[in-house]
Order: sequence, then structure tokens, then C-alpha cells
Amino acid sequence: MDLFDKCYAFKRHEEVKAMGLYPYFQPIYENYGPVVKMDGREIIMAGSNNYLGLTTDPRVKEAAIEAIKKYGTGCSGSRYLNGTLDIHIKLEEQLADFVGKEAALLFSTGFQTNQGAIVPLIGKDEYVISDKDNHASIVQGTLISKGLWGSDVLVRYRHNDMKHLEEVISKLPLEAGKLIVTDGVFSMSGNIVNLPELVRIARTYNARIMLDDAHGLGVLGKGGKGTANHFGLDDQVDIIMGTFSKSFASLGGFIAGEKPVIDYIKHHSPALIFSASMTPAQVAAVLKALEIIKAEPERIERLHYNANKVRRGLKKLGFNVLDGQTPIVPVVIGDDLLTFKFWRKLFDNGVFVNAVISPAVPQGMQLLRLSFMATHEDKHLDIVLEKFEKVGKELALID
Ligand code: PMP
Repeated sequence: MDLFDKCYAFKRHEEVKAMGLYPYFQPIYENYGPVVKMDGREIIMAGSNNYLGLTTDPRVKEAAIEAIKKYGTGCSGSRYLNGTLDIHIKLEEQLADFVGKEAALLFSTGFQTNQGAIVPLIGKDEYVISDKDNHASIVQGTLISKGLWGSDVLVRYRHNDMKHLEEVISKLPLEAGKLIVTDGVFSMSGNIVNLPELVRIARTYNARIMLDDAHGLGVLGKGGKGTANHFGLDDQVDIIMGTFSKSFASLGGFIAGEKPVIDYIKHHSPALIFSASMTPAQVAAVLKALEIIKAEPERIERLHYNANKVRRGLKKLGFNVLDGQTPIVPVVIGDDLLTFKFWRKLFDNGVFVNAVISPAVPQGMQLLRLSFMATHEDKHLDIVLEKFEKVGKELALID
């Protein structure tokens, strides 16, 4: 057997492509926010995490351009060595203040942030306790810990099942260091973590909490301060993690927490130390986005109005829509091929959504993931609903 045999035998995507149903890696040629140019046409984007619509905001774009003029296009090194700019530090201070923590630390992607925080924190005879539906970047981070310290180090509990969490954590030695890691908002279902109960369990069993708030920051809580704030539990979450690829209109990520913890991670995290820092344009875009988020809270209100309008509308049409309080609106289709067919017909009708199949969701829960922006107007949302009705009827998913 040759190493590449599995690659040569991998044909599933070719089959779906041959049927004209392949929904992935579709290029965007121009981006106007709620509308994009794809396939030579204008298409309504109902599948972006650009929740506050800031990636195309002229002020954010201008800030990124000015940063390139001042600092160049890249930092050419790690934060540890030559890659720290004054604006990296400024952004860390502002983020720490935004989420109410002592200090913050930037990483070059959100994915790297999770790995970069978990790996240095978990040592010998310590435990990381992770929700089974956590984002892949958390999973990968915990697998590195497992590789370093053995299989006992990683304990997983059923999705958002606090009884199960208590059951598994109560079996671990009370005195051992423990980190419970969870998404604040689960990215595919839009579910919000049961944080009050999780905090109670963490405090009872001597565990620290790390909350991945990629989809909560800029969306939930007062002024978009996130999931912990939504529950009034800001000071109970030990480490808040965020990404800049959603509400913050850029790319990169951060963690925030107590200063000694951030300092420790800063000096022990391979993902930070051995990777080049966020580019000037990325940092400047986040700084400007954060300024706008603070100054224009009405964007968050509009975002929720938009998502709720479509959620209600789709339910009324008879679709199986998962409940939620976030801009993520999942429509369960329940079958790979049907999901791809629905996706294709919507695309042909000028609406882009994301087709999500296993392993991103369990078998039988294949879904179309819609997500909204503050900059969608009613006219865009009405078209999304109209096209869903049309395609749903064509595919006999609704009457
Ligand atoms: N955590 C969660 C919950 C996410 O949804 C994502 C991205 N989809 C990440 C982390 C990784 O962030 P990024 O894509 O910005 O690297």
C-alpha cells in the first residue's frame, strides 16, 4: 500500500460535483456585504459570520489600508521576537477592557487561539473536560494534550448535558487541576451553553472555565460583550476566547483572563511563539470594528431582528428550524443528498447558505445553516423566505 492510495481512492466529492450539487469552496468574486458576486451573478449572502456587517464597512477598510501604509503588509515574525507592533498591544488592552479581564493575548487565527491556550495550560496529571460538540479547534487542542500526557487527560461530556458533565468530573481527583472548555454559542446549532450550571459545577469540583465565544462576542450580552455577560457571569468565566473572523471583521483571535495566566500562556504556547503575528491590516480592522461596536449598539439590535424575522418566517412555512437566540438559523433537512439539492436550488435562485453534513452535525441532522448580518435589509430577508418557500415546495419538504 502507498501512503497516497487513500487520496487516489477519494472520489465522493467528484460524484457530487458530477451531479452539479457540490456546495463547497464556491468562489466569491466581489463582496458588497449582504450581497456578493458569485457564479457571474449577484447572490444574497445568508451564510456569513460577518454578523455586524463590518467587513465591508468603509471605516474598517480605510483603517486597514492606513495600517498597511504605516506598517507594511506583514509582521514577518512571531510576537515573541520581532513581530509585536504597538497596535497589537493596544488591541490587547482594549479587548481585555471590553470583556472585563485583566489582560488579553492575540493569536493569528481563532483556530490557533484554542490550541494555543489549551496546550500550555494542561500539564501532567491535569484534565481538560470538553463538550462533545465543541469546535474542531478545541478538539484539536485537546488531542494534542492527550498526545502529550496520555488518554486520561481528556474527558468529554455529552453536548451541553450538565448532568453528564457533573458525572464525569466528580470521578476525577478533586485536588487535580482541571479546565472545562466549552463553546459559548455552538457554531452549527446556534445553541447557547448552560453557563450558570456549568459555573456551579466548575466551582464545586475545583475546575477553571474556558469559554470559546467566537459566535457570542458582538452578538450576545450588553453591547455585544458575549455569552458570559448574557448570563451576568463575566467574572465567573476564567478565560474568554474570541475570534476576529465573525463580528470583528478580520482574522485572528484572542484569549482574556488574569494577568499571570495570560503571561504564562504568552511564554509557553507553541502556537503563539512559533507562528507569525497578526498582520497590521488585520489588527487595525479589529480596532476599528471594536470602536464601531461600542459606538453603534443598534447594529446588534438589527442583527437579532433580522435573524428572528427569518427564523419565525421559516417556521411558519413549516420548516424544521432549530430554536435559538443567535444570528445562526439552522434548517434541518436530515439527508446528505437532499441537503445538497436544496442548497443547489437556492443557489440557482440567488441565495447562498451553508450545507452542513456529518461529521459537522450528527447523521440525520444534516442542515442548511443560515446566518445573518446587521446589514441585511428587509428586502433581502423577504427574498430568502420567498426562495425557501419555492424550493421547499419543489422538493416536497413543505406543503
Ligand atoms: N471557535 C469557534 C466556535 C468557531 O466557530 C470558529 C470558526 N468557525 C473558531 C473557533 C475558529 O476561528 P477562526 O475561523 O477565526 O480561526
